[in-house]
Amino acid sequence: MNARPLEARTPPPTSVEDARFAHESEEEFARILDFYGVRWQYEPRTFPLQYADDGRIVEAFSPDFYLPDLDLYIELTTLKQGLVTDKHRKLRRLQELYPGVHVKLLYKRDYLSLLTKYGIGGFGEGDGADVREILHSASEIERRVNDLGAQLTRDYAGRAPLFVGVLKGVTCFMADLMRHTSLPISIDFMTISSYEGDRSGAVRIVQDLAEDIHGRDVLLVEDIVDTGMTLATLLTMLRAREPATLAVCALLDKRVRRLVDVPLGYVGFEIPDEFVVGYGLDYRQRFRNLPFIATLAPEALQKK
Ligand code: 5GP
Repeated sequence: MNARPLEARTPPPTSVEDARFAHESEEEFARILDFYGVRWQYEPRTFPLQYADDGRIVEAFSPDFYLPDLDLYIELTTLKQGLVTDKHRKLRRLQELYPGVHVKLLYKRDYLSLLTKYGIGGFGEGDGADVREILHSASEIERRVNDLGAQLTRDYAGRAPLFVGVLKGVTCFMADLMRHTSLPISIDFMTISSYEGDRSGAVRIVQDLAEDIHGRDVLLVEDIVDTGMTLATLLTMLRAREPATLAVCALLDKRVRRLVDVPLGYVGFEIPDEFVVGYGLDYRQRFRNLPFIATLAPEALQKK
């Protein structure tokens, strides 16, 4: 058998604008390469790994990136261990069949440390190691918030809504959402805290709004809705002030945990029942400056 790689039918994409990435992490990796000025091609070649007796290709491998200046193929792997094992097997086979070809498998931890180096993370010392999984990348969040802004612009056309944010988790979301909304909006914030030891989940206003919301079109902007208790209490408080309309825009919806039914007019992402940080959300006041939304490693959740 004379194994040789198959060229892509059309010239491979070499810019983020032209490429249709299969996975978010690939796009982010391409941006990192651009940042460092490293030229790349996306999936330019397919390496047949196994042929049937009649010569048909029955198994093949297309590495994600080729870096022509380094003559190096890169395969990203942010996936589950089972898939990594399969990739290892394929890579070994590739090296046997194409000994002159250089391929590197980039693991999640390599990728995270690259993000840190790249400086987009604002990772504190050691924060990268505390992240377990990125649920929504910075570029994915940007696209979704852009869509939400466009939707709000349509729905509130001809009006001047007041965006009310609950500090501190909402800071990143509010800052981005308002910039993607083309309306004469105003913003205001309130700070709340749960009563110590109060199991009802009742909330106390620590710092109230500066604006009078009577007769206004109010949009309550929330970072995350979990059981719905906080939001339900807030809505009751705000309704008592008689706004003209009152709607909710939440970035994250942990729907599976809901105890109180709350109306969510706008939702960024529905997420599973896991504790998340980043993009404003904290764990003991840390991780708010991560540009993505991630779960934490169990060790990080145990740290004081
Ligand atoms: P709820 O009253 O809906 O149960 O909780 C809402 C509040 O709990 C949010 O505003 C947020 O402060 C906090 N919260 C709930 N889930 C998470 C999470 O996964 N990560 C973080 N950082 N805060 C959360």
